[in-house]
Amino acid sequence: MKKIILIICDGMGDLPVKQFGDKTPLEAAFTPNMDKLSTEGVNGIIHVLGKGIRPNSDEAHLTLFGYDLKKDYPGRGPIEAAGLGVKLEHGDVAVRANLATVDNELRVKDRRTGRIEDTTGFTKELDGIEINGVKFIVKSGTGHRVIIVMKSKGLSDKISNSDVHYVSEDKVVENWSDNKVNKIKPLDNSKESKFTAEVLQEFLKKSHEILEKNPLNAEREKQGKLKGNYFLTRGPGYYKKLSSFKEMYGLKSCCIAGAGLYKGLGAIAGMDLIHVKGATGLPNTNVNAKIKSAKKHMKDYDFAYVHIKPTDIYGENGDCEGKKGFIEKIDKALGELKGFKGLIAITADHSTPCSRKDHSGDPVPLLIHGANVKADNVVKFGEKECRNGSLGALLGKDLMKVVLKLAKD
Ligand code: ZN
Repeated sequence: MKKIILIICDGMGDLPVKQFGDKTPLEAAFTPNMDKLSTEGVNGIIHVLGKGIRPNSDEAHLTLFGYDLKKDYPGRGPIEAAGLGVKLEHGDVAVRANLATVDNELRVKDRRTGRIEDTTGFTKELDGIEINGVKFIVKSGTGHRVIIVMKSKGLSDKISNSDVHYVSEDKVVENWSDNKVNKIKPLDNSKESKFTAEVLQEFLKKSHEILEKNPLNAEREKQGKLKGNYFLTRGPGYYKKLSSFKEMYGLKSCCIAGAGLYKGLGAIAGMDLIHVKGATGLPNTNVNAKIKSAKKHMKDYDFAYVHIKPTDIYGENGDCEGKKGFIEKIDKALGELKGFKGLIAITADHSTPCSRKDHSGDPVPLLIHGANVKADNVVKFGEKECRNGSLGALLGKDLMKVVLKLAKD
């Protein structure tokens, strides 16, 4: 069995761009390393969730990893909690939150405490408090982002959000007519939902009092900054333990990612999280260091999942030049894999066409290099060319089966 490096370039898939002579950013980019891998390897396209279905990143990743979303999707809260290193147990409920600024009437003045950079001075006071037998784990994410995990028996994720502005993953309405925070409500008639809503509401009340008294807020006010005094919660999820990559595939696996969500996806799939200096999940991320680290860790692991985020960020900004330039950066970094004897698979979790500034249901290209099978006729890694590859059109849920088969040959 060969060792496997799976590189997922977030949102890399795209549509033809006029200024590139109707090529996509990937097709227009100068990518000698990817093209060599494509030429020597086998290629195809993936309809990640199914033909024409627009995926969210977390759903797309879990599907590519071989999980069944209907059965296994734990919700965004638990995934991001896992990314922050919180040890989750079956039955825990996690929510995402913003540390925000509210006035005395609990009206939202600022959803992100004036884009506060670090909330650890606020969350550490609350981490571990207990209310009605429920233990609250409170951890800081990047910037204003916070994760709140409730640990107890008898909890449910069928509860509403305190964040009045939040509509969905992609939609936040900033100017709401009634700007008052929402009360957490149960979303079904179960006693678990009622209890969870009540206990989270009590936590929000208590934490508001504690946050108000935090000396950091007095200091912030002196400096003319906004106070961080309320949690706007959203994305509740009930943690179900998933089978690990080791259990499903017999692979000792690691995850190399910069952004929290992707570390979380690796963690809930039972992968070890490898910290790479300079891996930020932002356009300034050090792709070279990530690829180098993946190669180095193949001494100890059978499988590495490498996540590269900025292709998606450029797509969502509609910046096709930036996307093309970043793909060239990834290509250069792939030079670090020279001499790696295992399998290299490169694909995307979905398309994020620059023309749409959003994820789309368009298929993504796939290349697999290093298998002992005859190379196909594809000589350039790109959306159009990969359609003619010998792997044909796959569904996301079949990717791991195909990769494992080729790793065995
Ligand atoms: Zn994505």
